Amino acid sequence: MSFLTGRIGVVFGVANKRSIAWAIAQAWHREGATLAFTYQGERLKENVEELAGTFGPETLILPCDVTKDDQIAAVFEQVRAKYGKLHLLLHSVAFAPKDALEGTFLNTSREAFRIAHDVSAYSLVAVARAAEPLMTEGGSIVAMTYYGSEKVVPHYNVMGVAKASLEASTRYLAYDLGTRKIRVNCISAGPVNTLAARGIAGFTDMLKHYEAHAPLRRNVLPDELGATGVFLASDGAAAITGQVIYVDSGYQIMGM
Ligand code: NAP
Repeated sequence: MSFLTGRIGVVFGVANKRSIAWAIAQAWHREGATLAFTYQGERLKENVEELAGTFGPETLILPCDVTKDDQIAAVFEQVRAKYGKLHLLLHSVAFAPKDALEGTFLNTSREAFRIAHDVSAYSLVAVARAAEPLMTEGGSIVAMTYYGSEKVVPHYNVMGVAKASLEASTRYLAYDLGTRKIRVNCISAGPVNTLAARGIAGFTDMLKHYEAHAPLRRNVLPDELGATGVFLASDGAAAITGQVIYVDSGYQIMGM
């Protein structure tokens, strides 16, 4: 039996085949879910069409810059028109201006702070609000976060502060949406070599550091994030909401 047969989902954040969103989308699809995908801007349209196009004719592929309320509304309107309902939502989107991920946190500009929080944290609130009316049979919303939200990770800077906001937003959304049987959780992934990750100064050292210090002495694999995504989307996680689940080879438990 497949865990997600009959479920409809929307996936924000596939940029290419290395994207964490793609690993989770593939796992959701393998378990029987029908998926819609969004992409930001024409630049990524072809990539997403090439990947998601393999899922068959029920797949919707739609543009969405998550800082634009009208684009978010258009996505959910088209999801409603095609499927009539929604069960799953993956938020796998983050951005901060490059210079804010290189220097000191102290030098974060007002504008970089605003952009990082708008794209990486507020957008979860905006998409959850738009998804709620379609999640008439309950639902599971999953967002991607990182440990830099709770401990200082050099160079992660304003993104760590935005991830703290994302995780707190997850808890408040879980409370607001609980009576509608909509669960909201974060996966806190260890470092994965993606487009977004390569924007963080010293990212290769992070991979080496995890390999040397995590209890499992290795980095997390994208398929393992996919498997956790399936678990959180499935009835196996029916009583889990508002949580941050660490999928990081155990790194989060270490004191030194
Ligand atoms: P990725 O493949 O580069 O995915 C990031 C996605 O966010 C891209 O599709 C990107 O599109 C999109 N995005 C940025 N600004 C957007 C906007 N305004 N509207 C819509 N989409 C926008 O990198 P990833 O590593 O898979 O990142 C996915 C999530 O996992 C992020 O939340 C990230 O913080 C989190 N995460 C990553 C790691 C890691 O080590 N890779 C670890 C823990 C958590 P563009 O390419 O057009 O900007």
